[in-house]
Amino acid sequence: VAQTAQARLVRYEPEHGQKIRDRRLLDLALRQALKRDEFYLLYQPQIDLKSGEMVGLEALLRWRHPELGIVSPADFIPLAEETGLIVQIGEWILHEACRQVAQWRWQGRISINVSAVQFQQGNLVAAVHNALVASGLPPHRLDIEITESMNIASDPANLEILHQLSDMGVRIAMDDFGTGYSSLSYLHSLPIHKIKIDQSFVRNLPNAQSEVIIETTIIMAQRLGKTVIAEGVETKQQRDYLASVGCDVGQGYLFGRPSFAIELALDQTSAA
Ligand code: C2E
Ligand code: CA
Ligand code: CA
Ligand code: CA
Repeated sequence: VAQTAQARLVRYEPEHGQKIRDRRLLDLALRQALKRDEFYLLYQPQIDLKSGEMVGLEALLRWRHPELGIVSPADFIPLAEETGLIVQIGEWILHEACRQVAQWRWQGRISINVSAVQFQQGNLVAAVHNALVASGLPPHRLDIEITESMNIASDPANLEILHQLSDMGVRIAMDDFGTGYSSLSYLHSLPIHKIKIDQSFVRNLPNAQSEVIIETTIIMAQRLGKTVIAEGVETKQQRDYLASVGCDVGQGYLFGRPSFAIELALDQTSAA
């Protein structure tokens, strides 16, 4: 019985009749995952393209299911968003990431992804505040990543949350920039400090069209006082190009895959 249930779980297909049953199984498994401590975080380096220094880390969620093995966030976050469970999972992520980073000698920044549902249903400001207080991490070391698809400014309540986070000293990064409809001039009116150029543009390099988008984004973002990060940097050629057009920070497999904290050797309390 368990085997069949697991098989259905992996083949989760929202289109078919199995839907309700599968979703229930996945939902149940997710609720157990929180209780059983099956979630963990990996960290991916963010590199200053001028100095080569690791200035930040993005926390990326993973789920180790006892039978299914490692499940990708893309496979379970959508359902956790639909059921609202992402609010609790998101609070766990905030606490865990801040707790770990505050313990390290390394003094860089930590980027944490939040879902639109955490804006709508959770008390995101309180959750962030609690995670900072509990860990002792200074607010200025925390970046909150939101996505363009959240269409944040369409709801004044969302905008208020962004302002409260920003007033706390937390910085806001717009993730997957270029894939949605927001223009930089419009972002200018929002408390958004960083722009993350989506990896689809970087992956295409060298490509005339991607280069126009990347270079225009960098020029406008920087003139508006925002930092620019490029995601999905996989080759030296991509890195060299991005550095040559003035991109501030790079993130991608070239610099490092998402890794366990211990692999990054940031947990040492004294210099080597
Ligand atoms: P994202 O926030 O855009 O994260 C970047 C994704 O690109 C990550 O996938 C990362 O592993 C992958 N990546 C990084 N560098 C490269 C590269 O050089 N090449 C390629 N091909 N890929 C690269 P991941 O970890 O599977 O996460 C997928 C998505 O799941 C994230 O996209 C984010 O939307 C969501 N997610 C991950 N962790 C969390 C979390 O803690 N909370 C929330 N709400 N969402 C999360
Ligand atoms: Ca992200
Ligand atoms: Ca992204
Ligand atoms: Ca994404």
